[in-house]
Amino acid sequence: MRVRAAVVSELNGPWRTEEIEIDEPHAGEVTVKMAFAGLCHSDEHLRTGDISQDPAILELLSGRDTMFPIIGGHEGSGIVEAVGEGVTTFAPGDHVAVSFVPSCGRCEFCASGRQYLCDLGATTLAGPMIADGTWRHHLGDVDLNRMAQLGTFSESIVVHESSLVRIDPWYDLRAAALISCGLSTGFGSAVTRGGVQPGDTVAVIGCGGVGSGAIQGARHAGARAVIAIDVNSSKVERALKLGATHGCATTLDAAFTILPELTRGKNCDVTIITVGVLTGEIVEQARAITAKGGVIVATSIAPYHQSTVELNLFGLSMFNQELRGTVFGSVSPRVQIPRLLRLYSEGALIVDELITHEYTIDEVQRGYDDLASGENLRGVVRF
Ligand SMILES: [Zn+2]
Ligand SMILES: [Zn+2]
Repeated sequence: MRVRAAVVSELNGPWRTEEIEIDEPHAGEVTVKMAFAGLCHSDEHLRTGDISQDPAILELLSGRDTMFPIIGGHEGSGIVEAVGEGVTTFAPGDHVAVSFVPSCGRCEFCASGRQYLCDLGATTLAGPMIADGTWRHHLGDVDLNRMAQLGTFSESIVVHESSLVRIDPWYDLRAAALISCGLSTGFGSAVTRGGVQPGDTVAVIGCGGVGSGAIQGARHAGARAVIAIDVNSSKVERALKLGATHGCATTLDAAFTILPELTRGKNCDVTIITVGVLTGEIVEQARAITAKGGVIVATSIAPYHQSTVELNLFGLSMFNQELRGTVFGSVSPRVQIPRLLRLYSEGALIVDELITHEYTIDEVQRGYDDLASGENLRGVVRF
């Protein structure tokens, strides 16, 4: 099948819409006709090399030492077009959301209820299909990698069934696309990984798509106050509409103008880092506004080789603080995506207001330009 897809062909190269060839699904695979794909910051990390693995590891995974060319996109929703042999959990016509973390249901992590840590996740950055190690997507005679084994910037995709979550057909597919990654990750970062309790004071550093989920999660968990921190004032303004009670540009502002009065010097019970790119300095900034006994959740993606971090170790131990990483907000995609869709459909989760622009598959680069300029909180591709 010939479809149009947004591909990056080289490090820092542009998103270019190409006509590509997709094969029929093999055993265990599903073809999905895409309805919506979210433009998440993580795809920019892919383009700029932040999440490029070592050439030696890539060679091992995919038989070549580069991630490129690769189809972008790891958020999305669509309708099942065809299923390969042995697929019993999906049928043509089913509505699905994609998940950037595959979940096999059988490995130790899946079996213990931690599908967000599924062993199949090892294959997500690059490489051929999970099912049988062959390639299904081709640009001319070059095999294509797909972001997170998905590549949702494509009119149709072929994916392993473990990368899909079935959703009830009455749910809005555009909302499902946003919930499939950013909102779920942010929501879980506050509620599950952060463990926000009723009456807590919470800070969310970075108020894009993921931060919007964290702010709403914190309010759902009963936070008395949520401080939205972002240098982009329009993001702070939107955050206040999502349930944040206070807003400011930097952690320093929060430390000097908001927290002394709000918490009488106690600081935040939970601080969640959801900035576009996680760097070493941000961790200490987050710790510095966190209370004794408090939790710092590092949700953002850092460059693959980032290994230094600024952290006041005296404070960390003497204030009995905890620094926690998280993937997908530490909740199984098959639990979180349907749960948040239900909240959305009942009016208890704000999604539509986050979508500032819709783009066509030809406008992916424009979408990321708008994200970089701060004009766009969250864009989606409508197919
Ligand atoms: Zn994402
Ligand atoms: Zn698994």
